[in-house]
Amino acid sequence: MTTPCIISVAITGSVPQKKDNPAVPISTAEQVESTQQAFEAGATLVHLHVRNEDGTTSADPERFARSLEGIRKHCPGMITQVSTGGRSGTGHERGAMLSLRPDMASLASGSCNFPTRVYENSPDLVDWLAAEMLKYDVKPEIEAFDLSMIFQAVKMAQDGRLKTPLHVQFVMGVKNAMPVDRESFEFYARTLQRLAPDATWTGAGIASGQLKLAHWSLELGGHCRTGLEDNIRLTKDQLAPSNAALVEQVVGLCGNYGRHPASVAEARQLLSLPAAP
Ligand code: ZN
Repeated sequence: MTTPCIISVAITGSVPQKKDNPAVPISTAEQVESTQQAFEAGATLVHLHVRNEDGTTSADPERFARSLEGIRKHCPGMITQVSTGGRSGTGHERGAMLSLRPDMASLASGSCNFPTRVYENSPDLVDWLAAEMLKYDVKPEIEAFDLSMIFQAVKMAQDGRLKTPLHVQFVMGVKNAMPVDRESFEFYARTLQRLAPDATWTGAGIASGQLKLAHWSLELGGHCRTGLEDNIRLTKDQLAPSNAALVEQVVGLCGNYGRHPASVAEARQLLSLPAAP
């Protein structure tokens, strides 16, 4: 028997990159179609940013609502996760879509440097976003850009500010933040296991780190994130033709590590989410 791996697909980042890869889905119709292809390829969780028609960053709850509606209709049971990341807006704008009650939302539990700016998540804002997630019964995915963010999430869970069991994503490879580093990655996994034994985790690598972290996560019992938000290449020389192609790449690795892509039912059970309606 192999063990399930939840494959998350981050279909569209918040930073305009359409000029780099036309496969990045921007319009609602493109987002729904790309998610459906990724779902059919084996992804069971979609991580969602939305854009304006001209490709620029948006935090408009109505755009989130349209994409969520299409995804729910065309990808039955797929876990929906919205981004509350800092590029999509500022302050409380970043949580304006939580009232749409997606299954999950991303939550960075601290601040760090990004390629050209500070990724600012003040304690007040983190607490407010966490409270909104409790209010609307949205499970957080903690985005851990460094070790302190794992400790902070555990503390927040112990204080009742976050629902348990925790789900944490280890993000590596963002320029000026934590690089892709095997020993640190293993230490993250061990530390989370020690502090919150019932927690689950996903590895998310940026650019060429994407595939590397997929291998490591499959090996160490975690889950995998892929998608055009983090990486636009399938190989060193080839732009990824679609989100589905990136998902297929991870699906193809699962067997090497005694894993299989989680079904919707398995993914929901692993994350302690309600069964699909
Ligand atoms: Zn994102």
